[in-house]
Amino acid sequence: MLDYRTLVISLGVSALCLLLTLFGTWFARRGDGFLLTWVVGMGFLVPGIFAYSYYTESPSAGVGALCFALVLIGFAIIYSAAYQFRTGQSPVSHAMWAAAPSLLLTVPLMLTTYDGIGFIALNIFSALMLFGTAGEYYKARRESPGALTGMGLLYGLTGVSFVLCALVLAVNGQWVIGHAPTNWAEDLNTGLSIAGMTGVGALSLMVHQGRITARHRREAMTDALTGLYNRRALFERHERDTFSHEMAVIVFDIDRFKAVNDQYGHAAGDRVICALADELKDAVGVSTAARLGGEEFAAVLMTAAPGYAEWLAERIRRNFAERDMQAAGLSFRVTVSAGIAYGLPAGRNFDGILSIADSALYEAKRNGRNRILVAGPEAPATVATRTTA
Ligand code: GH3
Ligand code: MG
Ligand code: MG
Repeated sequence: MLDYRTLVISLGVSALCLLLTLFGTWFARRGDGFLLTWVVGMGFLVPGIFAYSYYTESPSAGVGALCFALVLIGFAIIYSAAYQFRTGQSPVSHAMWAAAPSLLLTVPLMLTTYDGIGFIALNIFSALMLFGTAGEYYKARRESPGALTGMGLLYGLTGVSFVLCALVLAVNGQWVIGHAPTNWAEDLNTGLSIAGMTGVGALSLMVHQGRITARHRREAMTDALTGLYNRRALFERHERDTFSHEMAVIVFDIDRFKAVNDQYGHAAGDRVICALADELKDAVGVSTAARLGGEEFAAVLMTAAPGYAEWLAERIRRNFAERDMQAAGLSFRVTVSAGIAYGLPAGRNFDGILSIADSALYEAKRNGRNRILVAGPEAPATVATRTTA
């Protein structure tokens, strides 16, 4: 059988391995702040565990108090990292609120003769913080249900083993001990902590990998300049849809945009593109707003009562035309044209409705620009009958 000290050292080594793994994962991208917070928490916990293994051989109130402080600060920060993981908010205040009362109520007890009560308090506060950590991961489980529920469970179980340690000491009335408590609950706690640490490490890597994949996917679907969906995302979202007469697609193209670039420069041109993108982002009832490329945009309306697409496109046209753009101390205005196509009661496919809207846009340009034009239901044979300017 392993003696208790060897078990505690094993726990320290597995905690150190987890710390290094988390640090390596964070270092590779340096994006996920919660990983760094977690590393800082482990940075307190690991020396705390090694100090405790020393305490098991040479108990003294000073070393005991140091272990208590390191372990409690470590758990508090690990809890705050879980909060940061779920909410994306700063972990600092949660770490402080978890650490301060536990330190104040626990460390001084270790320095009195009542070290046993100190151990009971240590176990209870540790359990509370582990339950808090479990709760945070469990609440965040939507992101990665299996892995995050598993992490919650492992933290929860480890927390239960801390409660058992406190109960055994309390039931036996060990208020004064003078050395590290040894009983079945302590052995169970150390064993479970080792297993929990390994499991949590593996699961957290799974979650992290999932986050990276989701981020790459999001980036591949997003237009870098405007933050709207790009052409690829637009097709991925709608290419299988059938467009009824209560759905519509609007395509926009900025008027004489080449001249804007020539007169005011490419950077000013980019700001004009972003200005139209902002109008599309603010538009109500748009299921997908995408930049098709250059200064061309599309808005998909999955529910559009008759006339709604015209009303919306006209509003966007007017708002955009009224924006004062600035470049090199000059103020200028730019206009946009739009083509609209509704689906049919029998349905239209996405490629079809998009090309009909495109033809209507072409007609709007031919008719003088700065206007919207709706393709007639018989399109593409004859495009367009109504114009607004
Ligand atoms: P029209 O009214 O007929 O649409 O005339 P236009 O000048 O807008 O013609 P067109 O739509 O062909 O012009 C597209 C121009 O957009 C050409 C290209 O230089 C410019 N462009 C494409 N992408 C970008 C971009 O990301 N930023 C900037 N500033 N310009 C771009
Ligand atoms: Mg164009
Ligand atoms: Mg144009």
